[in-house]
Amino acid sequence: SFTLAIVGRPNVGKSTLFNRLVGKRLALVDDQPGVTRDLREGEARLGDMNFTVIDTAGLEEATDESLEGRMRRLTERAVDMADVCLFLLDGRAGVTPDDQLFAEILRKRSAHVILGVNKAEGAAGAAGVIDAYSLGLGDPIPLSAEHGEGMADLAAVLMPISDEMALREDTSPEVEVDLDEEGAEETAAPRITAKRPLQIAVVGRPNAGKSTLINQILGEDRLLTGPEAGITRDSISLSLKWEGTHVRLFDTAGMRKKAKVQAKLEKLSVSDGLRAVKFAEVVVVLLDAEIPFEQQDLRIADLAEREGRAVIVAVNKWDLEREKQSKLKDLKESFERLLPQLRGAPLITVSAKTGKGLDRLHAAILKANEVWNRRIPTARLNEWLAEMIEMHPPPAPGGRRIKLRYMTQAKTRPPGFVVMCSHADKLADSYKRYLVNGLRESFDMPGTPIRLHFRSQA
Ligand code: GDP
Repeated sequence: SFTLAIVGRPNVGKSTLFNRLVGKRLALVDDQPGVTRDLREGEARLGDMNFTVIDTAGLEEATDESLEGRMRRLTERAVDMADVCLFLLDGRAGVTPDDQLFAEILRKRSAHVILGVNKAEGAAGAAGVIDAYSLGLGDPIPLSAEHGEGMADLAAVLMPISDEMALREDTSPEVEVDLDEEGAEETAAPRITAKRPLQIAVVGRPNAGKSTLINQILGEDRLLTGPEAGITRDSISLSLKWEGTHVRLFDTAGMRKKAKVQAKLEKLSVSDGLRAVKFAEVVVVLLDAEIPFEQQDLRIADLAEREGRAVIVAVNKWDLEREKQSKLKDLKESFERLLPQLRGAPLITVSAKTGKGLDRLHAAILKANEVWNRRIPTARLNEWLAEMIEMHPPPAPGGRRIKLRYMTQAKTRPPGFVVMCSHADKLADSYKRYLVNGLRESFDMPGTPIRLHFRSQA
């Protein structure tokens, strides 16, 4: 679990959001010794996450201290108590000098910041969202604490943080891995919640065909006739059943078209893609077959890998291609050369226009998600590790043998493993790659990043 602090100047709606997140489970901290009444704390529930939330509500109370002084003091305290800060702005007010001061405090304190723009409903609020980019604190999440809008988006941004905290707890050096307990994790329930839709982001350069693809998945007429049963749409996402799978599609193109400020278009089209990547479980990088693997495509694909998302590369407008065989060969070569970090990720050719190949895309998405969530039993991993070492023992720098003792899977989404060994710092990168690639092949894990950590143990 983790702690989220809601910070921001008075009247942006911190308490409204706090109340929404905490509901009735409010624990006022003022009767605890050493805690002033400025900070409220509660147990929040959002999606399938439970976490602690701190509100710097005391700012609204009048004291003798100057507002700026109080702001600084409370914010710094909240930041120090929290794992992550939700910096809230008022979308209708835009970015004010006080907000800029907050941004400065947060930057100096090097807090992990999520930018939220409250009261984002309506045109005035939307302008505030665009304004918020100027703070340079990443992509703002439009919210309406009062109406409960944007909560799913907030959940989606918090999810990777929640996962990361879980990983830290899992792999902290204090944790003893007891080999006798390995049977336990084989029976442990998978962490996927069946009810939650699979979150898919379709990203790519303008004109790659993202809107066309999403319309094709939706069925054109359904989109034209507006919302109907089973389809819900907010500013950035669509929930629907796609061939029997409940999915939530992040429609980055739609978001871009919503932002009517021309000058900011270019900036937005990049950053909304980045934001979608953070929300998603599976990222579909959509390329235009005519101009594949442009700089921007490479950047977003790399980002998706670094963020630990399952990645699929889809090559669109395949209907226009004459020499399909040789073109596919070229594409695969370019893929391996330009995106070696995505080794094993599927490359699917599609025509968003005709719908051809979408069944294969659907299947690849499900497979990538399954692999992303996969948990491999410790016993199998260790049998595998012994075989790998037998085939190729690790190089011995300076004649000194490095012993790989055992390994275990510490996390999923994406799969992360810990290998206990002697002199982890001396293990050659090439050997690490040998193990990562081996894992991918032996356990059939295409389309997901694989994290391998080596920990020294004498
Ligand atoms: P976006 O900016 O990524 O959302 O791209 P759009 O979906 O707006 O598509 C850009 C252009 O490419 C439009 O003129 C589409 O009709 C065209 N297009 C999209 N997908 C295909 C396809 O599979 N085949 C062909 N021939 N044209 C396509």
